[in-house]
Order: sequence, then structure tokens, then C-alpha cells
Amino acid sequence: MKAKKLDELTNLNHFGSCPKCGTNWCAGRIFDALRPQKWCADKSDEELKAWIADHYSPPYSFSRLISIEIPEFYDGVWEYACPDCKARFPRFKEAQHDGKVQAH
Ligand SMILES: [Zn+2]
Repeated sequence: MKAKKLDELTNLNHFGSCPKCGTNWCAGRIFDALRPQKWCADKSDEELKAWIADHYSPPYSFSRLISIEIPEFYDGVWEYACPDCKARFPRFKEAQHDGKVQAH
């Protein structure tokens, strides 16, 4: 399924605080979560940081924000939800203005 190119909103900081309830969405650094794991025990801290840079995007942290896919609108993440207050935030300008836009 080929998705139409939509205008992505970039004002939602996945590692910041919820604009509705104020809870923080940052779930910690990826490095801190992976360092104690056995599969990377043979890597130095610098080697693990380089591996993380190859496999993840800055700021190299986990987000608690929930990604929501609505297949009838878009093949991929259509909107986000706060795990605490359940407020929803559109991913695309099209979703912000009309949640019923058919994207594909
Ligand atoms: Zn919230």
C-alpha cells in the first residue's frame, strides 16, 4: 500500500512533557537500558554508544508516548496518545484539521 505524502507536525516533543497533563514522556536513555544486558557485555561503553548511534535516532532515549495506527486513514503512525491522560495528538496537519481524511 503506497501512502500519500502528508505534512508531518514537528511540534510534539516525544521526550518532553504532555501539553495536557504535564507528565514526562522520557523513559530514560537507551544506553542505560542496554548497558546491563548480556548481549553487549563484550562492547566497551564507546562501542555500545556507536552501536546505538547506528540503530537509533537522537536523543537516543525511549519515549513513553503511544503510537497509534488507524489503518483506514494511514499505513503507519497516524496519531500519538499520552500514556497517562490518554490525550491524543495528531501526527499530520491533515489529521489536525480533519481526522477523517483518507490518506491512501
Ligand atoms: Zn497527558
